[in-house]
Amino acid sequence: MISAEEASRKPLPAPDADTVAFWRGLHDGKLLLQYCADCGHVQYYQQATCRACGRENLTHRAASGRGKVHSFSVVHRAPGPAFKGDVPYAVLLVELAEGPRMISTFTGGPPDDVTFDMDVMLTLERVNDDITLPRFQKASNEVRYQPGKLGIFSNKR
Ligand SMILES: [Zn+2]
Repeated sequence: MISAEEASRKPLPAPDADTVAFWRGLHDGKLLLQYCADCGHVQYYQQATCRACGRENLTHRAASGRGKVHSFSVVHRAPGPAFKGDVPYAVLLVELAEGPRMISTFTGGPPDDVTFDMDVMLTLERVNDDITLPRFQKASNEVRYQPGKLGIFSNKR
């Protein structure tokens, strides 16, 4: 059994050996992708080996922050008490400009704004000193994401 207090808090990711650089990158304003120096494969989900060729010759590079909504779904019923204040919200499957797809959530407008193939732009939500979450908003010409220089917004939980 978890306590009511625990249930009212959102579960947060726990960085491990394979993902610590990724979380550090987000903290510094960069969404890091893994590039395989042997076969050129680009991957989002961080692991020790290349998913295409199995080798370990991976390097990190910051994503451009640009992408498109490949698919999405609007959540109306909160998965737990901690999410009550967030519904309705849109869960996105974003296809990054670099190729990999990642699951994230939409911010900066009502979920009804989301459409298939919509251009989106990365924004970062600082939750605490260890965790900064990648989220996406509608792409705009006025505001552009620049790796390491973006406006990180804070949403204390
Ligand atoms: Zn490879």
